[in-house]
Amino acid sequence: KLLGRSVKPLLFAETVESVSNKAPEAEINRRRNLAIISHPDAGKTTVTEKLLLYGGALQQAGAVRQKAEQRGTQSDFMSIEQERGISISSTVMNFDYNGKRDFSEDTYRALAAADNSVMLIDSAKGLEPQTRKLFEVTRMRKLPLFTFCNKMDRPALSPYEIMDQIEAEFNLESFPVLWPIGDGDRFKGVLDRMENVVHLFIKSVERGGKADVQQVPMDDLETLEKLIDDKELFDKLLEDRELLDELIPPLDMDRVSAGDLTPLFFGSAMTNFGVQLFLDKFLEMGVKPATRVAVNKDASSDDVLTVSPEHEEFTGFVFKTQANMDPKHRDRLAYVRVVSGVYEKGMKVGHSRSKPNKKYNLAQAQALFGSDRSSVDVAYPGDVIGINNPGCFAIGDTLYTGSNRVAFPGIPSFSPEKFSYIRSPNPSDYKSFRKGMDQLLDEGAVQALRQRNDDGGGPLMLAAVGQLQFEVVQARLKEEYNVESIMEPLTYSLARWVNSGWDAVDKADAAGKLFGIMIVQDRWKRPVLLFRNDWKAASLADEEKYLELAPWSQ
Ligand code: GDP
Repeated sequence: KLLGRSVKPLLFAETVESVSNKAPEAEINRRRNLAIISHPDAGKTTVTEKLLLYGGALQQAGAVRQKAEQRGTQSDFMSIEQERGISISSTVMNFDYNGKRDFSEDTYRALAAADNSVMLIDSAKGLEPQTRKLFEVTRMRKLPLFTFCNKMDRPALSPYEIMDQIEAEFNLESFPVLWPIGDGDRFKGVLDRMENVVHLFIKSVERGGKADVQQVPMDDLETLEKLIDDKELFDKLLEDRELLDELIPPLDMDRVSAGDLTPLFFGSAMTNFGVQLFLDKFLEMGVKPATRVAVNKDASSDDVLTVSPEHEEFTGFVFKTQANMDPKHRDRLAYVRVVSGVYEKGMKVGHSRSKPNKKYNLAQAQALFGSDRSSVDVAYPGDVIGINNPGCFAIGDTLYTGSNRVAFPGIPSFSPEKFSYIRSPNPSDYKSFRKGMDQLLDEGAVQALRQRNDDGGGPLMLAAVGQLQFEVVQARLKEEYNVESIMEPLTYSLARWVNSGWDAVDKADAAGKLFGIMIVQDRWKRPVLLFRNDWKAASLADEEKYLELAPWSQ
């Protein structure tokens, strides 16, 4: 929707008394933000942990449960941050609930807050269903995508096979930056194709599992042959190197930044091999906090503005909200990605959905390291901070200083594939049930659908991408609001928003085109059709173009 409108730089009214909120260039330039996407068990938690070990301050926004071994790493990384002078925010969102892991909408939203994405692949398995789903989002956002093939210490697919899968399924070329030498027990190390140096991996038990690495120039064949100590792998390395140099065009960073070419890495997070190399390359190649588009809500026409990190005023948007993180306090947090300017403790901000003169005091912000939080007094573009949510900050909302009413585009909700009615079996619990449901819907834990024209009295249907989202809703209703709930699943498997509106629905209905399709409305009373299978949705979209069917609302 933003395309086709005029794009203008954001201009600010010059007011003499206004203090500049501009972020120092050095702070903007040293920040890199990344979201790690993967199928469960590919090693996201393990990689994050190693990034913490090697990287600077790494923010992990909103991990619901943190793995025990991660806690020890924090003292290390503050000093490393000073050494490296670089800070990385990672909006890793692992969702771990009662030991089960599944898709979480949060991961999609984390991508909205990130400037770079890392696709983590289990090298034995290649692309898996959730990698595919998440890839669609990085593609939609045109984020630079880095690919890390993990678990090379286990028997793996051939690296050529992984490249082929990425190309065939995602129509995306890859550029091998690191190339593996062997796999499983014979995983010897990687060739850094940019530096023409081989990093040999020498397992070390004494150094707390940290790998000893020996670097040998690729041209020093004699030493290489001796250290690789495996004739077959040595010959293969020479052959691969020649083949890759012949087949792969030189690295085109413009294509990487546009998300058209993915730099490819191989390693083993568990044995600490390749992660540091990856991090070093990522810091060189990743994009710094990016300029974003927004609309100016003051303007009579809906002007599109561009907001750069260097912009004079503070702007940021909410991409996740969460309640009751600490069971002792009924706290509510909104996670804000800073887009421009400086967050300062105690600053007053406007809010895109409140009245223009209403200001909110951001008394406290927290940096989020897993489940640990520490308060921060300043934050810069690229950072993610957690602020107290008085209840009115919802996903997609913009916070800003200055006289312009900036609103970043909403964060799309993803197309649900599971549908179920939910109700409370005990009429006496109704109030708590409503309160709990409202909170969970505000957080975007699931989406709500209702029958047409239902103002809230009729049956409540929940829509989600994965079954676990329903289970989480039920468990949280019980734990946090002490209410039981009953779910009655429906057999629909696909939702399409009718972006041309209710008249179009009526037209199709009158013509008998909606037989077997359920007509419902979302929270904003926009029409949604539920289908039992893909082809039915595809044929309706094809035959009745005026409906403007889409997998999500626009
Ligand atoms: P996540 O679900 O993506 O967060 O995955 P985890 O980091 O929890 O890892 C899933 C499992 O794979 C755990 O048992 C890890 O110990 C294991 N794992 C992670 N990285 C590696 C690796 O490089 N090699 C091997 N062999 N196992 C790994």
